[in-house]
Amino acid sequence: MSETPISAPPLSPVQELDLPEFKAAGVQLLIKRDDLLLPEPGSAFCGNKWRKLYYNLLEARRQQKGALLSFGGAFSNHLAAVAEAAAQYGFSSLGIVRGEPSLPLNPTLAHATAKGMKLQFVSREQYRQKDHPHFFSQIGINPEPYFILPEGGTNLLALKGCADLGREILDTHQPDIVAVACGTGGTLAGLCLGLEGKSLPLGISVLKGDFHQQDIQRWLERSGQPQVNVPEITLGYHHGGYARWTPELLLYIRHFGMKHQIRLDPIYTGKLMYALSDMVRKGTFKRGTSLMAVHTGGLQGITGFESRWGVSLT
Ligand SMILES: *Cc1c(COP(=O)(O)O)cnc(C)c1O
Repeated sequence: MSETPISAPPLSPVQELDLPEFKAAGVQLLIKRDDLLLPEPGSAFCGNKWRKLYYNLLEARRQQKGALLSFGGAFSNHLAAVAEAAAQYGFSSLGIVRGEPSLPLNPTLAHATAKGMKLQFVSREQYRQKDHPHFFSQIGINPEPYFILPEGGTNLLALKGCADLGREILDTHQPDIVAVACGTGGTLAGLCLGLEGKSLPLGISVLKGDFHQQDIQRWLERSGQPQVNVPEITLGYHHGGYARWTPELLLYIRHFGMKHQIRLDPIYTGKLMYALSDMVRKGTFKRGTSLMAVHTGGLQGITGFESRWGVSLT
C-alpha cells in the first residue's frame, strides 16, 4: 500500500491591516494568515493545528502506528483536526469526548465522524482521570495500537511545529512583537523557541486562570531550553471564560469580518484581535512598534458556536 507523504505546512502569507486604533497609536499591525493553511477548503486540519500535528504525524508513521487517539470537548478544534489529518494520511482515529453524548451530534463531531473518527464519550469525572495509568482499562480501550495525542495536541513535537512558525516569522518580517491566542499555551511556547528572543512573544489568554506562565515554563524546561524567557501573557480578555462570549466580542468579530474580509473565530482569534485593539487604545504599545498577530485558524468552530448559542457571526 502506498502512503500519502505527510507534508509540512507551506509558507503562510502576511498582510498589513488598517485599523484606526492602531493608526492613531502609531503601531503597525500585521496579521500572519495561518488560517489560510488548509489542505482543502473548509478543512479543520488548519492553522496552528496543522503546525502542532505535523511532527506528530511523522512520528506516528515512524512508529508504524495505524491509528491516532486523542481527547477533547464536544467542540474541540483539535479533535476535528485529528479526524481530518487521520483521514488524509490513512490513519484510523478515535476521539475520547468529554461529557455525555447529545444527539444529533454538533457540527464539529458530525464532521469528525464523517471523516471516519470513532467517538467514545466519557463522563466528566472519567475524563478528568485521562492521564491516570488505569484510564484506558477503565473505559475498555486497549491503547496499544494508538499513537496518543494529548488534549489540545500540546506535546514536544507540537512545540517543534510551532517553533517553525517562529522561524518563518523571523525569516520574513522580524516584527517587534508577535501575539497569539493561548489555550493550552503550546503554540506560544513553541513560538518562543522559534523566535529566539529576536521578536517578543505575547500571549492573550482565552480562558480564566493564570496557570499559563507555569505551564509554559515547564514546556520550555522539557524542551531543553529553560533559558528561554517565559513570554508575557495578558489576562482579562476571556469574555467570561473558555468558549464564553460577550456581545461586544461578537460585534467586533462581525465588524472585523466585514471591514477586512477576514473571519475570526469566537473562541481564540476573535478574543486575540479584540484584546490587541483594546490594548492599543489603552496605550500598551510604544509608538513605532510593529505588531504581528497570528491568525491560528479555528474557523471550523463557527457553525457549532452559532447553532449552540443561536447567534450569527456575520
Ligand atoms: C487550539 C487553538 C489555539 C490554542 O492553541 P494552544 O496551543 O492550545 O494554546 C489557538 N487558536 C486556535 C484557532 C486554535 O484552534
